[in-house]
Amino acid sequence: MLIEAGVDCFRLNFSHGGREDHARRLAAIRAAEQQAGATVGVFADLQGPKIRVGMFADGQIQLKYNDVVTLEASDEPGEPGLIRLPHPELVHALEEGDILKLDDGKMQLTVIEHGRTQLKARVDFGGALKNQKGVNVPTRRIPISALTDKDREDLSYALDLGVDYIALSFVQQADDVREARALIGDRAGIISKIEKPSALTQLEEIVEASDAVMVARGDLGVELPPEQVPIAQRRIIATARAAGRPVIVATHMLESMVDAPTPTRAEASDVAGAVYQGADAVMLSAESAVGRHPQSAVAIMDRIIRAVENDNEYWASLSREMTPPQDTTADAIALSARHIADVIGCATVVAYTSTGSSAIRVARERPRCGVVGLTPFVETARKLALVWGVRAQVTEDVHNVEEMVEKADAAVRAMGAADVGDRIAVIAGVPFGRAGKTNMIRVLRLE
Ligand code: PEP
Repeated sequence: MLIEAGVDCFRLNFSHGGREDHARRLAAIRAAEQQAGATVGVFADLQGPKIRVGMFADGQIQLKYNDVVTLEASDEPGEPGLIRLPHPELVHALEEGDILKLDDGKMQLTVIEHGRTQLKARVDFGGALKNQKGVNVPTRRIPISALTDKDREDLSYALDLGVDYIALSFVQQADDVREARALIGDRAGIISKIEKPSALTQLEEIVEASDAVMVARGDLGVELPPEQVPIAQRRIIATARAAGRPVIVATHMLESMVDAPTPTRAEASDVAGAVYQGADAVMLSAESAVGRHPQSAVAIMDRIIRAVENDNEYWASLSREMTPPQDTTADAIALSARHIADVIGCATVVAYTSTGSSAIRVARERPRCGVVGLTPFVETARKLALVWGVRAQVTEDVHNVEEMVEKADAAVRAMGAADVGDRIAVIAGVPFGRAGKTNMIRVLRLE
């Protein structure tokens, strides 16, 4: 049902639920994928080094404006005036003037005194602080690995399950992505979630090291002042587009639909804005995970995306903001395919692709007719589900130009991407069957 309503990619959120829940959900997605005759992607979103306060003897304490509280690196329960922070490396790294946001920014402390195992902090704005609420430190890069022990176990489990991407939470630097890559190899793509101000200072390098990025506005919005979030969003999208990495915009997109059957006008504008800016994917979280109207939320999001893509200004602004291709044969071919498709009105561009790269490079050019990715690997087809405008299908390897033309012709007809009389542009690499060799364009008319 959700796939029919428009979902291309699902997230398994390892911050919630047990491993068996994720296995069960993945099996259900694969069954639905088969039933719908579609190819959908799945990513495992690792919890990452989410910092939390410890427990309290009474379950919670009250923080009042201007109170001074002690933060101590210990696993013992806290009490009024004493917050346990079971992260010694954090207590050690913080200095006077650092800010701690508690419970998604509902409360805030400023460090006023730094000791070896203790900190004193003043309450800037208070409230009831409950057991294990999250702590964000926007003022400092935290000396903590991007992968906790739980993440490493979840990662190995998710790879064994066969997910298509791993999403890394709280990435702070490109080395975090490289560390994960050393564990993941080519078993899954990596989506870096940009949710720390420190990631913005190394954005280009992080994007380059990743297969895709996510504008994770939930945590980013806690760490940055709200007026900075739209600016960061535009920058992350532009950087990812320039590098040819798919970019997801996430969180609070249709938030009111957790309860309401329709979104607010502002929410519809937010989704549309992300699409106008060039996002490859827009993501639902609570709306579809625990909301009352998951299918309607997906259907409405799908309608908003389609409405934007029907607007000529969308295409005009994408080409105004297009950054130059890289000086590679694959990019030159991708750009040429888009030009050919636009000039002669192709029904689609077909990209033969083994790793997915050439389909991604064509999609980066945003041909109005969209892209069909043909690949011998189901894993590649599923990864391409995240990419703007690409519909992927698994086909056997081709060995010569005749076979290439024949298979492309049959695939686009079967997918309803082109019909008799339509022209299509096909890109491929010769000699056939070798990755990274895209060097040919063929235009054909379907007879
Ligand atoms: C976010 O913070 O926006 C996000 C997508 O991450 P999570 O859902 O894990 O908080």
